[in-house]
Amino acid sequence: MISERVAQAVRRGHPWVFREAFVRPPVGESGTEIRITDPNGAFVARGWLDETSPIAVRVWCLDDRIIDRALLSERVEHALTLRDRLFATGGTTAFRLINGEGDRMPGVVLDRYESVAVLRLDGDAVAARADDIVSVVWPALEARGVRTLIQKQRGASMALLRGEAAPERIAVAEHGMRFWVDLAHGQKTGAFLDQRENRARVRQMASGRRVLNLFSYAGGFSLAAALGDAREVTSVDIAAAAHKTAQESFKLSGVETQRHRFVAADAFAWLESAKRRGETFDLIVSDPPSFAPNERSLARALKSYRDLHEACVKLLAADATDPIFCASSCSSHVDTERFLTTLDAETIGARSLRVVEIYGGPPDHPALPAFPEGRYLKFVVLR
Ligand code: SAH
Repeated sequence: MISERVAQAVRRGHPWVFREAFVRPPVGESGTEIRITDPNGAFVARGWLDETSPIAVRVWCLDDRIIDRALLSERVEHALTLRDRLFATGGTTAFRLINGEGDRMPGVVLDRYESVAVLRLDGDAVAARADDIVSVVWPALEARGVRTLIQKQRGASMALLRGEAAPERIAVAEHGMRFWVDLAHGQKTGAFLDQRENRARVRQMASGRRVLNLFSYAGGFSLAAALGDAREVTSVDIAAAAHKTAQESFKLSGVETQRHRFVAADAFAWLESAKRRGETFDLIVSDPPSFAPNERSLARALKSYRDLHEACVKLLAADATDPIFCASSCSSHVDTERFLTTLDAETIGARSLRVVEIYGGPPDHPALPAFPEGRYLKFVVLR
């Protein structure tokens, strides 16, 4: 039984029930199915228990149905059919097949890279149900030409679940842009697929510009800018290994690396030194890691975004006719309005920059209307 207030949120579609919402928190092994009721004893939802997480139950079902393989199979087909439609034309071969809560499969993330699918299970509940999930997912993947299913958990190496052995890295395409994904050592499931449409936007805006890509990882925005005829591209990331992948992707896409710089450095320190050297740019992309892992770190995170944005804008060429600044954030605790406060006149000065577009995640990363945590990505274009 949960409180009336939380019951209302769950009925609206919020899929997380924290332990303190229960009058008597459920006990049992992770993965146990829980039937949640309201203070009147009326049915609210069904979900799976997580023994260790503060989110005691993640909700799968708002109708009173057992969460069995038939239900899992419906969910998987619903998720995969959307992607069949979204990516029918074939120019994009790396995309998200299942987006956890957003596809009503809380904790289950499945990404496709060409013939390889990568599964990530967040939390003990889905981990306990891994066998059921894998046996439902695999036939649906095979039917779509996937030959390998691997699992990647945070900080762990990849484990083969089904099919052929996985390559260490794989070449994929995004709106026709070809690049390498490091499956064995890369971050997340290998790439940051959620920025695909924003990379395509940068490609459109880059022509003739000197581009700075901060927190460049495997160089997605950099390659997009180079293919969009940027005059030169500077990529800054603290991880040297990511630059190596980026340079190989430039080669794969047939872009000469001579005109482009790859700098392994702390972005904040590098911004300062670039300012001292008097370097300037016409288009800057900033896509840092999440500065706010939780609500408590919010104030510090906002300060970091402010410092970062202030330093970026100082490098925008004063004489450029149409300077562009793309500021991104992947912190779910920093919503769009809060993020915009880190780009206000007090922060970036009274320069003539205006917000021209605000984007979120792409359609293969669907979100639920009543679950703002799922809409974590912000990509603000100022010019
Ligand atoms: N824009 C990328 C994703 C960026 S992920 C894309 O489209 O694929 C964040 C990146 O920031 C990681 O590659 C990480 O190595 C890097 N990073 C983290 N802290 C950093 C710092 N202080 N300075 C520079 N890079 C940093």
